[in-house]
Amino acid sequence: MTDSHYPWHENYWQHLLAYVEQQRIPQALLLQGITGLGKYQLASRFAQYLMCLAPNRQSSCHHCAACKLFIANTHPNFIVLQPEEEGKSITIDVLRQLMQQLVLKPQYSTYRVVIVHLAEHLNNNSANAFLKCLEEPPERTLFILLTEQVQQLPATIISRCQKLVLTAPDATVAQQWLGTQGIYESQQPLLNLAQGAPLLALDYAQQNSLQLRNQCFADWESIVKANACPIILAEKWYKLAGQPLLQWLISWTEDLIKCTFQVPSRFLLNSDLASALQGLATGVALNNLFDFYGLLMKDTYRIQTQLNKQLLFEEILITWSQAKVKR
Ligand SMILES: [Zn+2]
Repeated sequence: MTDSHYPWHENYWQHLLAYVEQQRIPQALLLQGITGLGKYQLASRFAQYLMCLAPNRQSSCHHCAACKLFIANTHPNFIVLQPEEEGKSITIDVLRQLMQQLVLKPQYSTYRVVIVHLAEHLNNNSANAFLKCLEEPPERTLFILLTEQVQQLPATIISRCQKLVLTAPDATVAQQWLGTQGIYESQQPLLNLAQGAPLLALDYAQQNSLQLRNQCFADWESIVKANACPIILAEKWYKLAGQPLLQWLISWTEDLIKCTFQVPSRFLLNSDLASALQGLATGVALNNLFDFYGLLMKDTYRIQTQLNKQLLFEEILITWSQAKVKR
């Protein structure tokens, strides 16, 4: 997908076009936002625009030699840095290769674009090497860093970038777009699950994640309500995708805290689970909920590094089993 026009990108796109119009294209851009907002698609659409030989005011031509190369994914001026393996960091070797490429002038008369996907995967060494690229910028080269975790980037890198923060679109925009993708059922619960990010909501719909999430919720509920065994559940859970599961736990816990303060159900993140959550809230103690929430927050960092996910989920579920009100 090289020229995806997501409706929620329109303002960001105009912002990027203004750089070109005013001839003030920065050396580095930082696109920040949660998963599922299409950061990569926006960056790559802009890259194509900068390389297009006959762009119009709003978009690339899609027909020139440069566009054809770009669409075929073979344009020599388009470079994407990412981990060689999923979940690993972007290594210094990848950076060395990049630096060799940057010594040469960009081919053709247009721009060269380097996308770093995702910048939080730069480790200490590669981040230092990358900083050197930013400090001695090659000509006609734009770096676009994408990030979901801006707080994990070195301040020295952030300070050299123009920032663009992508946020989740209005629910109506996201729902309409899901409709265009053939998703009509459970739009809002899917969007809630995806923190409002339409592409992630679509992904969840295609993977039947709502069903999985409902099953996980029922299992989680059974620990407090039916004294189910946390160790056995951990054995089942550690085989699932850890990050989304942790996000679900966080959102359920936030909702439980809201329920203990009698917040109306329309303000819950999981409003489709409102009555189950309200019932559950009466069975857990508020101070234990806060402790549990603190543990989950810590685990959002630990899950990226800790290899033993089973132990991690055991600790989570044992702590959860102790959140019950003592009777
Ligand atoms: Zn073109």
